[in-house]
Amino acid sequence: MTDQFFDEGALVAVLTTQPLDRALDYRAPEGGCHLGAFVEVPLGPRKVLGVVWGNGEGGYDLAKVRSIIRVLDAAPMREDMRNFLIRAADYTVTPMPAMLRLATRAPGLGDAVSMRKVYRLGHNEPDRMTDARTRVIAVLEEYGDLAFTLGELSEMAGVSTSVIKGLVKQGAVSEEDTPRDLPYPRLDPNLPGHELTQAQADVADALKAAVASGEYGSTLLKGVTGSGKTEVYLEAVAECLQQGRQALVLLPEIALTAEFLTRVEKRFGAKPAEWHSGVTMTERRRCWKMVGQGGAQLVVGARSALFLPYRDLGLIVVDEEHDTSYKQEEGALYNARDMSVLRAHFASAQVVLASATPSLESWANVEAGKYQRLDLEARFGPAVMPEMRAIDMRDESLPSNRWISPTLQRAVSKRIEAGEQALLFINRRGYAPVTICRACGHQIGCDHCDARMVEHRFQKRLVCHQCGETKPVPEKCPSCEAVDKLAPVGPGVERLAEEVAAQFPDARVAVLSSDLYGSARALKEQIQSIAEGGADIIIGTQLVAKGHNFPLLTLVGVIDADLGLQGSDLRAAERTFQLMRQVAGRAGRAEKPGVALLQTFQPDHPVIRAILSGDEEGFWKAEAAERKAAGVPPYGRMAGVVLSSPNVQDVFDLGAEMARMDAPLRRIGAQVFGPAPAPIARVRGRHRVRLLVKADKGAPLQAALREWVAQFKLPTNLRLQLDIDPQSF
Ligand code: ADP
Ligand code: ZN
Repeated sequence: MTDQFFDEGALVAVLTTQPLDRALDYRAPEGGCHLGAFVEVPLGPRKVLGVVWGNGEGGYDLAKVRSIIRVLDAAPMREDMRNFLIRAADYTVTPMPAMLRLATRAPGLGDAVSMRKVYRLGHNEPDRMTDARTRVIAVLEEYGDLAFTLGELSEMAGVSTSVIKGLVKQGAVSEEDTPRDLPYPRLDPNLPGHELTQAQADVADALKAAVASGEYGSTLLKGVTGSGKTEVYLEAVAECLQQGRQALVLLPEIALTAEFLTRVEKRFGAKPAEWHSGVTMTERRRCWKMVGQGGAQLVVGARSALFLPYRDLGLIVVDEEHDTSYKQEEGALYNARDMSVLRAHFASAQVVLASATPSLESWANVEAGKYQRLDLEARFGPAVMPEMRAIDMRDESLPSNRWISPTLQRAVSKRIEAGEQALLFINRRGYAPVTICRACGHQIGCDHCDARMVEHRFQKRLVCHQCGETKPVPEKCPSCEAVDKLAPVGPGVERLAEEVAAQFPDARVAVLSSDLYGSARALKEQIQSIAEGGADIIIGTQLVAKGHNFPLLTLVGVIDADLGLQGSDLRAAERTFQLMRQVAGRAGRAEKPGVALLQTFQPDHPVIRAILSGDEEGFWKAEAAERKAAGVPPYGRMAGVVLSSPNVQDVFDLGAEMARMDAPLRRIGAQVFGPAPAPIARVRGRHRVRLLVKADKGAPLQAALREWVAQFKLPTNLRLQLDIDPQSF
């Protein structure tokens, strides 16, 4: 450890997670502390978490400086991490305390005890089964090899701790003392992987060489789904582990981790550490600590895994790098893909961005010479990319309230007869997107948001997809009070399931939609069952587009390929292209070739044509030209400012004032647009307006934004959120 050490009594600056605009001075505690140490400090009457950030400032009554209460049992935050947080805060225009909060999300970080009691399944049967006891046993069985603390177990089973204690007495639950946090089993990077094809080996060698350099570098790994990108980046992970450094693999969707963990176990002989919202508190605390101490070699996780305190991070893989879920949309707004590059930079690590359909941002970085590009052109083994065709809906005759064209229906029947699977894709959750009154035309909306309520028939309720508010489907129209006149309009995944059941009465149907699953586990089981042939027709939303491997699937039917092309968002074309290519890529991943059929009313639309032809370079060049002409990302810079308040007048007044007082922006040649109602103009009762700021690529946008925003005094209850590189513009 080369980091600076402060002796007892030395004046140090501590950055806390409290919303203060600077670090505060404290005295180093008994025994001293390292720069970067996680500490507990007094703040007014409270104790708060902080990190030793540097030398104290002094310059005031030193007698009043209080002491750090204690140093927490965690490795000090390293310099590369501190620098990363500073730069990330600067880039996203996020206050440092909010940034630090992302890096201290370790449950139990403040706990001092180093031993704890944990609970597992015991050897005896309980002598008498009660509901409460059954729940405890069920939780322990479900999580198998995981141990829980008393608090966790009682919470998860919904029982009092005395129930658990009772089960311990009978030997039905075992109680053990363990060190708080155990290292993860060692991964062995020397185990042999699959034999790679020549093309794969070339790419793997290039990645390994990059990792072996021990320096920062970024690579775009582009390859069609099933080409072996995962196979190849696992070789880079192996190289990284051989160097004795840590690796991080980011996945866009928790549902994908199970399959990935199994793959890692096959490749390296043990499972890696996991970090995402589906992981228990115990495991998260363990992960956080072990990452810091080097007891975790590989972490698989969601975007927040970037903020773990790695001891020596050598490689970050961002799988499906184009995925929009990498953008954090609440609190500190950041894009995990972009932050990975920053994180790697400070850690002297390599970044691998993997995708079949890279983001325009990454294409542009390749073009600018910032990223190297490696390609895997062909699918592995006999699998070939599916043939893609349009079904011109103008030529199909369909009765109203039906969405599967005769052509698509025939294609599905054929596949089922051949013992294969068909996937019908519709990117809409629920039963119907709109519920309308046939008497007066009223559409049922959310009371708190500017959004229509979506009928969810499985739940028998109307649901607002913005705020989650639900209500029963009313019998009378809330506007004209007509009875029995409310009707669903348009298809959602549940309604499509109804049509499928009517048209294919003998088929086994599986519906995959994120809201239909109680737990990640249930979803995982459903996916497993589909992969093993437990369904003939799969009906799915966006959830199925991501990474899953269904070997029997040979037909993909897209119900509404035009859906994403409506609206004025400049990213709509890119998103539609990516989504359609991803969904189509689900077909024909094994021996049997696949087909993707796109139902569209505009088969000559340039985006639809690019999707069908698969001419990615052509599509990218056309998109790039349009964005260049418009001066928008990735060829210009943009930021969004969202003002929200329960008071609609306040947001428009401040918005107008901000648009007027734009001198700091004009000085850097930036323009302000708006205020306009935000893409969703009201959420949870708060009115929202948005201003967009557009600047040239090289302009110092963040500094100008800070200066601009600092001019205004916000009315109470008004929130101002800056969003660098907004998702929609
Ligand atoms: P991608 O990440 O590009 O979608 P994968 O790495 O998941 O591709 O590979 C697709 C499938 O092919 C996986 O089941 C994988 O195990 C298999 N595969 C890829 N390359 C090889 C290889 N060289 N030897 C054996 N199996 C391979
Ligand atoms: Zn709502």
